[in-house]
Amino acid sequence: MSQDHTVPTLLPRLPALSDFLAQPRKLLIGGSWVASQSGKTFTSLDPATGEPLARIYEGDAVDIDAAVQAARAALSPDAPFARMPPTERARLLHRLADRVDQHADELAQLESLDNGKVYKTARHGDVPAVSGVFRYMAGWATKLEGRSLPLSALPPGLFHAYTLREPIGVVGAIIPWNFPLLMAAWKLAPALCCGCSVVLKPAEQTPLSALRLGELLCEAGVPPGVVNIVPGFGETAGAALAAHPQVDKVAFTGSTEVGRLIVKAAAGNLKKLTLELGGKSPNVIFADADIEAAIAGAANAIFYNQGQVCTAGSRLYVEASVFDRVLSGITARAMKIRLGPGMAEGSQMGPLVSDVQLARVRRYVDSGHAQGARLVIGGGQHGSTGYFMQPTILSDVTPQMQVVQEEIFGPVLTVHRFSSLEEVTALANDTVYGLAAGVWTRDVSKAHRAAQQLKAGTVWINCYGAFDDALPFGGYKQSGWGREGGAEVLDAYLQTKTVVVKLG
Ligand code: NAP
Ligand code: MG
Repeated sequence: MSQDHTVPTLLPRLPALSDFLAQPRKLLIGGSWVASQSGKTFTSLDPATGEPLARIYEGDAVDIDAAVQAARAALSPDAPFARMPPTERARLLHRLADRVDQHADELAQLESLDNGKVYKTARHGDVPAVSGVFRYMAGWATKLEGRSLPLSALPPGLFHAYTLREPIGVVGAIIPWNFPLLMAAWKLAPALCCGCSVVLKPAEQTPLSALRLGELLCEAGVPPGVVNIVPGFGETAGAALAAHPQVDKVAFTGSTEVGRLIVKAAAGNLKKLTLELGGKSPNVIFADADIEAAIAGAANAIFYNQGQVCTAGSRLYVEASVFDRVLSGITARAMKIRLGPGMAEGSQMGPLVSDVQLARVRRYVDSGHAQGARLVIGGGQHGSTGYFMQPTILSDVTPQMQVVQEEIFGPVLTVHRFSSLEEVTALANDTVYGLAAGVWTRDVSKAHRAAQQLKAGTVWINCYGAFDDALPFGGYKQSGWGREGGAEVLDAYLQTKTVVVKLG
């Protein structure tokens, strides 16, 4: 990594943003911006400096309850949203997408400041993906079809049966800090498409972009109570939302550990759940791959967004004959990465989201080292201001090391050597996770065989991290329940009613 000690020039903050950050941000409940009932606030930090960025009212169980009541009321039969025809819901989603695009610079700055990510990534990656998912889901709003079903045992001609697809109801959305705005959009877009109302709890580290999105939602004409946003802490606001008896479904993205708590909390009223959880995704490079493309892809798979990506390609498996070339290629790339504040021109990697996350990542690296892994590059904090972590590569790892089994959620790559397809798929499948996997080869049969054998919700071949709104996304094993994206996400926000008519 390049060690540039000059003080970076930061992008000037947009005036609209300075105004937004100057006031304590409120909760969106029933279409109004309100202080939390306790009056308590918390602070969001800029992870590039550790300095306070904004104050936010802290919601807890009573605010969650008020938000859930507002969300319920928004679905009562005579409420505007319940009466809104699908074409109008589609228009609403398009208007929201337009608002996001109009405010793209501001949203990207906010995301960069609050999360630490590189501004250009937020501006050209996260924000267009947000408007994209609203537009994609707008198309589905008018296509939520039931079916007319031929009967199997009831006498034909005497009965007619069909299904209706109805909104599941009030959705509790609980999201993490790594893609704050995009994770909010991944929940809000299908919920609004399907006619559900939402109570959204953003992560305590990064609540700001979701709150700004809340303002844009109101401007776009989302009726009061349809989307409520309650920032606060997981143990209070999050837990209250997951346990609330009037919430019909929880859509959660976050760690597997908290996912388990959500399952327990949901048991009271047996609410429906989708869980997008952690990963420890393998990336497999065969000797017959386009090696330069594979090196670039593998480096990006782990270092993009500082490695704080649930699908990060954090375990790299390289066929023995190209192992040295690939390792030196990725190391050379890691050395060139320019670390700096997300808002600085030329930064390629920003800080981790918090001191807690930095300490956690460093602990993992130390544990790998202590268990015998070889530190090829990195391993420590970069600089002394903010929460920057050096891009880190560990080799000479063994399958049972913590750094190989557990999700680190930072820019830390383990590199392994293999000699056959059978060996590598067994190694690749040897964790409790199954979110994604990458395969690099020019041999089409080998690629498809690997895709069949890998236990992962997504397998990328000769690419990594290629997302599209039309594609289902989710985890095998302990990486989650259900799918987001594509037509499959609709199943999570709709329920099926069967109607049977006896013909007189
Ligand atoms: P986290 O600790 O699981 O937090 C996720 C969300 O859950 C936050 O809003 C958090 O609130 C809330 N929460 C915490 N405790 C809770 C509880 N007892 N009840 C209800 N909600 C609770 O995860 P994170 O540290 O934010 O994010 C990193 C993790 O998320 C990684 O493991 C990563 O793999 C996973 N992730 C998965 C995906 C995916 O799509 N599969 C995507 C992104 C991230 P507070 O933060 O406010 O306490
Ligand atoms: Mg922050």
